[in-house]
Amino acid sequence: MTKSSIRDENIVYQVAVPSPLREVFDYLPKNPGQSIYPGSRVVVPFGNRTVIGFVISTTSKSQIAPHKLKYIKDILDYEPVVSEEILSILKWSSQYYHHPIGQVLAAALPKKVRGANPVKPMIKIWKSLEFVPEEKLELVENAPRQKALLDLLQQNWLPKADINEAGFSDSVIKELQKKELIFELTKPDFKRETYAPISERNPKAMLLNRDQKSALTAINRTENNFQCFLLYGVTGSGKTEVYMQAMQQHLAKGRQCLVLVPEIGLTPQTLNRLTERFECPIRTMHSGLSDSERLESWNMAREGQAGILIGTRSSVFSPFSDLGIIIVDEEHDNSFKQQEGFKYSARDLAIFRAKKKNIPIILGSATPSLETLQNVQSGKYKQLSLLKTAADTPLPSRLLIDTSKQTITHGLSETLLTKIKKHLDAKKQVLVFINRRGFAPALSCQNCGWVAECSNCMSQKTVHIHPPSICCHHCGEVSELPKKCPACNLSKLETLGVGTQKLETFLRDHFKRTPIFRIDRDSTRHKNQLNEMLDQIAIGESCLMIGTQMIAKGHHFPNITLVAIINADTGLFSPDFRGQEYMAQTITQVSGRTGRANQRGEVIIQTRHASHVALQNFMRGGYNEFASIILEERKNGRMPPFWRLAILKANSRALTTSIKFLASCEDFIQDINNKYHQKVESIGPFPAPLEKRGGKFRAHLMLKSNTQATLQRLLTELVKRLDKIKTKPGLKWYLDVDPADLT
Ligand code: ADP
Ligand code: ZN
Ligand code: ZN
Repeated sequence: MTKSSIRDENIVYQVAVPSPLREVFDYLPKNPGQSIYPGSRVVVPFGNRTVIGFVISTTSKSQIAPHKLKYIKDILDYEPVVSEEILSILKWSSQYYHHPIGQVLAAALPKKVRGANPVKPMIKIWKSLEFVPEEKLELVENAPRQKALLDLLQQNWLPKADINEAGFSDSVIKELQKKELIFELTKPDFKRETYAPISERNPKAMLLNRDQKSALTAINRTENNFQCFLLYGVTGSGKTEVYMQAMQQHLAKGRQCLVLVPEIGLTPQTLNRLTERFECPIRTMHSGLSDSERLESWNMAREGQAGILIGTRSSVFSPFSDLGIIIVDEEHDNSFKQQEGFKYSARDLAIFRAKKKNIPIILGSATPSLETLQNVQSGKYKQLSLLKTAADTPLPSRLLIDTSKQTITHGLSETLLTKIKKHLDAKKQVLVFINRRGFAPALSCQNCGWVAECSNCMSQKTVHIHPPSICCHHCGEVSELPKKCPACNLSKLETLGVGTQKLETFLRDHFKRTPIFRIDRDSTRHKNQLNEMLDQIAIGESCLMIGTQMIAKGHHFPNITLVAIINADTGLFSPDFRGQEYMAQTITQVSGRTGRANQRGEVIIQTRHASHVALQNFMRGGYNEFASIILEERKNGRMPPFWRLAILKANSRALTTSIKFLASCEDFIQDINNKYHQKVESIGPFPAPLEKRGGKFRAHLMLKSNTQATLQRLLTELVKRLDKIKTKPGLKWYLDVDPADLT
């Protein structure tokens, strides 16, 4: 910690409090002789409450009149609990995403770090006054031992035992205390020793193939410098092996590694693999941990006792004593973008952090995001390709089935059913992918056309059969499955479309002797349900799996020879400009589940639009060629990653209120554009693709610019102005910077 004393007599502390207000609040110190370092928790009066806040910065010029300033009630940390590095990342994120700093802190820090309790067991230490006035110095002029101890304690904060060990008796301490030059306080007992570095050579490391070797060489070359690498390789191409060998050299030097995974479900397998390889302490950080476990991981990373931290999104804000490298696995994954509240991208912040810290970062993916590919093209990132799978399995064959030309039963074409049977007869495993959980996506009346809709959202309700119900997947509203049509009272209700449960029912009936596993959010709600199924599947016996997005990611199923994608069309006609990118990523990811361990896999893609250009491009050139075509389209359409995007969102109880509010923002935007002689384009306002959710009507105004600086300049000023105006009761507005989707 730097102990740069803040010598200003008029010092005012700027404190972030847990509130939706954007600004920091000014407070006077309790005791002006004692400085408080940014990153420390303090107890302050706020309105008519007392809250815990974080000191963010100091100033000598408060906007508040001196007699109106309130006092800090209590200092919880003399040694800041949030390091300078983390604090600066948080401040930057708060500005970039235009989210209140108090809420940024709340989202980024473990609960126990934000509370009133110490983050570690406390110890007592002795500390000197930070700045000793002249007249006080005279008090020790003729007492050399006291002067020596004072000097020592100005440099270090020490427990009594250490002071005694340095040769000072208790009476010297007492004398200085009496003169009010030193005092005793309690502070968390942060450990100073780090984990024991591991050896440079790891006997478990595999002999790398040529691509892996050149990737590793490139990464190792940048040991102490910032460089963002894209490790581009299909599932099974040995990316994890490269990560591990790159981590090895940092761990051998006692440095730490941060491994970000897109979702909690992927932490156990990553943990297993790294534990098998490395002897150093490895910790995880995700929402499945208890508050105490999280705090422990946080402390171990902070103190340098954990060599590796594996975590989801918010672990990008974890403190480290000596971070050497960051790895973002499945970097394209949408889950890295927080969708509610503080809408940050953990991947982007990881890159920002690596850059500030001047360390390497590896983004790994079989289907890199277009942002990343564009950054490679422009030379900002360096691409390292793993062209073959490690076991040299041939890529799976791909077949497109036009469902508009075949009889379809429960979502499955004749051709597909025959194929499934063939693979099952050969004692293989088959994966059927469908991105809809539940029984069917809609319930409708054959007589009058009534459709079950959610009363809170402008959306159809999904039919579930265990228990029989209709459920809104946006707000969770559940009601009983009606037996008769509520509109015409006839018993002519039918389900429309196919979900995982309907598919399961049909396939169980069709393949009576085959074990069937349905893997979706509903079938894995209870602890261990997922793991039990995965263990069963891992035995390798012939079976059928029906799964959603959940199984598209990461999991290893060695005996799958056929993967079927039931409906590839959702992405083709999505209102979202990223729809096609997601479609191609999903198909590629799901396809990656097959074709391991020396057997060529087959992938079948069902579509009603077999001649769609995007799909044709994908079938012809795979993800890579598809991506370069889409990139060209984005460039011409002036969309990300070439242009920068932010969406100003409003919601309220009436659509017109939301729309009107956004329309009124247009004047501000014009005005700001004029002021800076710039042109940020605004598009809209228009109703959001999901117009009503949870009882609120939602509207969007899209803002875009060809440079980030221009867009940011506009957003900063726009937010300032919007904060000042009084909006209609019930109307809320917020910004989504670099949105992951447009819903
Ligand atoms: P990815 O992370 O790209 O999916 P992995 O690193 O998990 O790939 O590698 C896939 C499989 O290939 C694993 O079983 C791994 O042990 C093995 N493997 C990786 N690299 C090599 C190598 N150089 N030689 C032999 N096997 C390898
Ligand atoms: Zn009806
Ligand atoms: Zn709803």
